[in-house]
Amino acid sequence: MDCIFCKIVAGQIPSVKIYEDDRTFAFMDINPRTDGHCLVIPKKHSPTLFDIEEEELQAVMATVKKTALALKQALNPDGLTSFQLNGRAANQLVDHYHVHLVPRWAGDGVDLRHALQAGDPEKIKATGARIAAAFSK
Ligand code: 5GP
Ligand code: ZN
Repeated sequence: MDCIFCKIVAGQIPSVKIYEDDRTFAFMDINPRTDGHCLVIPKKHSPTLFDIEEEELQAVMATVKKTALALKQALNPDGLTSFQLNGRAANQLVDHYHVHLVPRWAGDGVDLRHALQAGDPEKIKATGARIAAAFSK
């Protein structure tokens, strides 16, 4: 399979590995938003949150927590931004599920927030009802 992250897991492409267990792999991002920016991935290929098996996802999240604690211990950041993108519309570039962990420092100037703009309460309510109904489908 022609997947950069599968090749990283297989050791076919070099990476700065920080942690590995049976199901997951954590390594440094080559385009760090801040010092310490790293990625946590499942070893088994799944493109997005829509595809990944729940068991794999749970393993990834356990490693996300361990990695957050390691970042805290090693770098003592003031905060931590974690995010995960799905699909081109969400700016996902690598189609192998991954969680970004970006250590943050007060005044680091990195803006990963979305601008707050009040929504239409009726629309929020109607959309919420559509999503709530979809849980049973
Ligand atoms: P996303 O798919 O969430 O937009 O981000 C993909 C991330 O993978 C980017 O932050 C990018 O810097 C990182 N990335 C892409 N190719 C490589 C690579 O070959 N090695 C490493 N370590 N990171 C990569
Ligand atoms: Zn892959």
